[in-house]
Amino acid sequence: MSNAPLLLTPGPLTTSARTRNAMLTDWGSWDRDFNQLTASLCEQLLGIVNGHASHQCVPLQGSGTFAVEAAIGTLVPRDGKVLVLINGAYGQRLAKICKVLGRDFSTFQTAEDQPTTAAAVDDLLRADPRVTHVALIHCETSTGILNPLAEIAEVVARHGKHLIIDAMSSFGALPIDAAKVPFTALIAASGKCLEGVPGMGFVFAEKHALAAAEGNSHSLAMDLHDQHAYMSKTGQWRFTPPTHVVAALHEALRQYHEEGGLAARQQRYAENCVALLEAMAALGFRSFLDAGIQAPIIVTFHAPRDSRYQFKDFYERVKAKGYILYPGKLTEVETFRVGCIGCVDPDGMRAAVDAVAQVLGEMNVTEI
Ligand SMILES: *Cc1c(COP(=O)(O)O)cnc(C)c1O
Repeated sequence: MSNAPLLLTPGPLTTSARTRNAMLTDWGSWDRDFNQLTASLCEQLLGIVNGHASHQCVPLQGSGTFAVEAAIGTLVPRDGKVLVLINGAYGQRLAKICKVLGRDFSTFQTAEDQPTTAAAVDDLLRADPRVTHVALIHCETSTGILNPLAEIAEVVARHGKHLIIDAMSSFGALPIDAAKVPFTALIAASGKCLEGVPGMGFVFAEKHALAAAEGNSHSLAMDLHDQHAYMSKTGQWRFTPPTHVVAALHEALRQYHEEGGLAARQQRYAENCVALLEAMAALGFRSFLDAGIQAPIIVTFHAPRDSRYQFKDFYERVKAKGYILYPGKLTEVETFRVGCIGCVDPDGMRAAVDAVAQVLGEMNVTEI
């Protein structure tokens, strides 16, 4: 076991020794054994979202944003229009992707502590019939807020529009059933709640929409239609695959199923989140979001008011005790974030808060 610090961050996150050890083998990219690994991975991922009947799983090299950009570029036709729902930095990124790709878009922004409502989406779609696609962040990782996916999906479907969901930080830990929640694309990645290492994303693309998407993409490497067509024909990735990342994710999924699948993962993260919130509250910390809209993924805390508090010093001292925290991502208020996801349990979360308490003492921070 290494004595590397525990990552309490929303990806990369702490992985198990088994998952890391799975990267000690080299794989040939066109070898049958590796292709079986990829096929097995896609099968299992589709199983988690119950999407075998309706969706294809298209993996893509790169970080999560690569897969989001590829999904928008492939599935939104060049004359389409995207309504982007924003309540944080990842929503802003969706709008920026549309802008860079030259897709027409409009934005609807709520405060960072307010979920987007289905009623608002209903009004927006009524007001602008030119919208073809709605883009939503499920868990907005910049605060940890959960948006009401099922209700919004229902409204989008009722209007006959396409829904593109960035479920990067929720997939695998919060239930999403493709047979009940209609969506055209849902995007996630290897290095978040599945507890793999970073390096590949994947898009669950609705079969008809993907089949109709030929020629939409502005990009060769980011064309999911082409990636899928090639993979269906050959079993191989179109360009060099992230072989070690695929092997690690395959091993991480084995542990996911051993743990008890989504229900068990969701429960452990929920317990982590409760342990964190309770222990931090006992020190006097206030969380940024109301409990009802807090996803059990990452928690934003208000920074101490004490003038002796400085995030950088605080961060370095907590790191020296074995825990990596995450800076805040809000412009208006000073905050920091603590992730509840990864290979960590409630005891680990309480130990991290113990470290925080010791550091506050070292820094003479008394006013939280
Ligand atoms: C992590 C994350 C992404 C992807 O970020 P990358 O840095 O590209 O991996 C996108 N959306 C959300 C909501 C995320 O949490």
